Amino acid sequence: MEAQGLVRLSSRVWLREVELDSYGVRGAVVAGSEAAAVFDSLSHPRDMAVVARLLAGRRVIVVYSHADWDHVWGTAGLPGARVVAHEAAARRFAADVPRTLARTRAAEPGRWEGVVLTPPDETFRERLRLDLGGVTLELSHLPGHTPDSIVGFVPEEGLLLAGDTVETPLPCLAEDGPLEAWIAALERWEGDARVRRVVPAHGPCGGPEIIGQTLGYLRALRDGCPPLLPEALTDFYAATHRDNLRIAAARRADGQCSGR
Ligand SMILES: [Zn+2]
Repeated sequence: MEAQGLVRLSSRVWLREVELDSYGVRGAVVAGSEAAAVFDSLSHPRDMAVVARLLAGRRVIVVYSHADWDHVWGTAGLPGARVVAHEAAARRFAADVPRTLARTRAAEPGRWEGVVLTPPDETFRERLRLDLGGVTLELSHLPGHTPDSIVGFVPEEGLLLAGDTVETPLPCLAEDGPLEAWIAALERWEGDARVRRVVPAHGPCGGPEIIGQTLGYLRALRDGCPPLLPEALTDFYAATHRDNLRIAAARRADGQCSGR
């Protein structure tokens, strides 16, 4: 199986990368002998056209890393796929997901007409193991970026699909995402010797060291200390950083750097 528009990572893993207006987004395909999992359908059904060609005739399971628009709007490009996500993601399909689509369609008429919101068919709370035939995708809840965020681990490949839980130069905090639980979960993955390759949805891929970079940033925010950052941030990341500082400051009682 070969295809243009996909980056081949191994004999059974491909990456799909798409540029949006101010940042890029990345999904992944993990193909076994029985089924193929598509980790995020990205922002438009056309983002999935190359994936649909790659997986023609195969059983397809779409997994949502979380229900933010740039990860779930492309599912109509994979007709017949079963959709799996965290149970909190399913609730978002009755709340902010349709609101975001309506707002975006109003702001950019014509651009998003092909998008069909596709809620999950199956949900889980802590963990779900998908046996794809010779290769496994182990899903685990990792709240923080959003309450419904998950990661996918492929033990046969030493591959962690991190969604938006790991991001360089910096991740995006949600107003209602738990920061301590996010840090604790990433610390477990950073210390997991099985993880050799980390693929986030935004920013560069790498090894466990990119988990460490996100951890350093999150700990600094938690402790009220200035995070280490590259000198030149894009407008998008500069704005995200300002929002993160505001959210983190509102959560700390004393507002002082505790130096932890
Ligand atoms: Zn995202």
